This record gives sequence, structure tokens and C-alpha cells, in this order.
Amino acid sequence: MINKLDGTFVVPGEKLGVVEEFDPGRGTVEVGGIVYSSQTGVASIDPKRHIVSVKTATGLVVVPEEGSTVVGIVEKVQEKMAIINMIVVDGKKMALPFTGMLHVSNSSPRFERSMWDVVKPNDIIRAKVIDTSQRIAKLTTVGRDLGVTKAYCSKCGNELVLSGHILRCSVCRNVERRRLAEDFRSEASATN
Ligand SMILES: [Zn+2]
Repeated sequence: MINKLDGTFVVPGEKLGVVEEFDPGRGTVEVGGIVYSSQTGVASIDPKRHIVSVKTATGLVVVPEEGSTVVGIVEKVQEKMAIINMIVVDGKKMALPFTGMLHVSNSSPRFERSMWDVVKPNDIIRAKVIDTSQRIAKLTTVGRDLGVTKAYCSKCGNELVLSGHILRCSVCRNVERRRLAEDFRSEASATN
């Protein structure tokens, strides 16, 4: 439980634990035996001294907002949605990954029946944030510059390259489908 908290992104007022587990350190406050974060940053546990502190990350933490363009790694794909680990927001690398959700209805200007035709795990996508009111940001890849920018073969894991309109594995020649960004690199430019 302690290890799980260590290194996680926290906001002011977030409950970190109880005084029986650890003493409040810098960036935290204790109220009635409960330790809360008093600032936005990264929780840090000192296991020897049993102290929890929050290292402020103001100025370093870039948070995705509605309208932000993000780059993310596809973590998980289900029939109707995919979970994306956002790593870059508006060209700035994030100190911590944020989770985004891409629903199949927001994935393509065309009708897509299955998310598996849009993205696959480990692909890199460029997306736009459309809603941040929930804990998991909602993303869209509708737009010419949005979609998959790097794709990996679901059979052998090697990079897929575009040859004409066919997306093919550079090694095993397996043909796959994706919702590609317009600037997805073609075979001619994939040699280096
Ligand atoms: Zn392959």
C-alpha cells in the first residue's frame, strides 16, 4: 500500500494515509490523524523514517486541458474503447503520464465498428482532449493530423509501414488496419 502511493501524482486535499502509517512531512498536513496532501505534486515515502511528503511539481506538471493536443501510448484496447497513456501535452513532455480514453465513436470521421480496427496496444497516437470533467480525460482522433503515428505488428511486434494504402509489417509482412494520422510515415521514408 505504501509502495503504491510512492511516486503518484496528488492534489491538495488528497488523503495520503493515517498517522499510524507515517508522519506528515513537507507538503502535507495532518487533520485528526489523517495525512492529506497540501499541494499538487508527487507523493514520496521515506520507508525508514515513516514520513510521507509531497514534492511540489508546479511549473513541471503539464496538465491536459480541453483542446490540448496529446501524444499517447495505447495501453489497452476493448471492443468500443481504448485506454491511452498520455505522455506529451501540447509539445511538452509530462512528468507523469495521464490516462485518457478514446471511444470508438470519437476515433474516426468514418464509422468504425471495432476499436481493434482503430488502434492496437503499444501504438503511438496523436489525439485531442475533448473532455476533462471526469478523472479520465476523453480523447478524439477525428481530424486529419490525428490518429496513429506509429504502429506495431500484432503478430511479431515490429513496426508497420504504409505501402500505398496497405499497412504492412516491415518484417513478417502481416497486413493490419489502423486509423492513421495523415503524416504516418510511408514505406519510402521508413528505411532509417
Ligand atoms: Zn510482423
